[in-house]
Amino acid sequence: NEMDACIMEGKTLKAGAIAGVQHIKNPVSLARKVMEDSEHVLLMGEGAVQFAKEMKMAMEPDSYFFVEQRFNQLKQAKDSNTIILDHTAPVPDEKKFGTVGAVALDVHGNIAAATSTGGMTNKRWGRVGDSPVIGAGTYANNATCGISCTGHGEFFLRAVVAYDISCLME
Ligand code: ASP
Repeated sequence: NEMDACIMEGKTLKAGAIAGVQHIKNPVSLARKVMEDSEHVLLMGEGAVQFAKEMKMAMEPDSYFFVEQRFNQLKQAKDSNTIILDHTAPVPDEKKFGTVGAVALDVHGNIAAATSTGGMTNKRWGRVGDSPVIGAGTYANNATCGISCTGHGEFFLRAVVAYDISCLME
């Protein structure tokens, strides 16, 4: 399981993101640590995991992330040589658990946006989607809006969708 996550604060335009991490129990909390406790915006892979350890973030073994239904979905995707979304048919789960997006607005007009995902099913090793890329899958600006995208990430990346929506609002 390789996970991507991102968080952005619309008041300050501060952001934090992590890409391709394993074993992190709460990826979006690590993204927030990157925003609040590092000099960086985006950390990836082993470096992000090392940062998580330094920040004493909760870690879990592979078994924690194992979901039989998703494993079966991966097998189906491999067999048909396709790359699919976690909520793509033929998954028999109509509740569509998977990528999580959140946008919040407080009483002072502060907007925040966050996205957390396992990416696409049967993605290539090392593939990073739109979710942790500021302006592609996630964006927040108090002057305009908060955005968290879900769907086929390569399209959001190419079109810089989240930032484009903010620009249109502006
Ligand atoms: N946008 C995510 C990605 O491409 C997937 C999703 O939204 O389910 O990684």
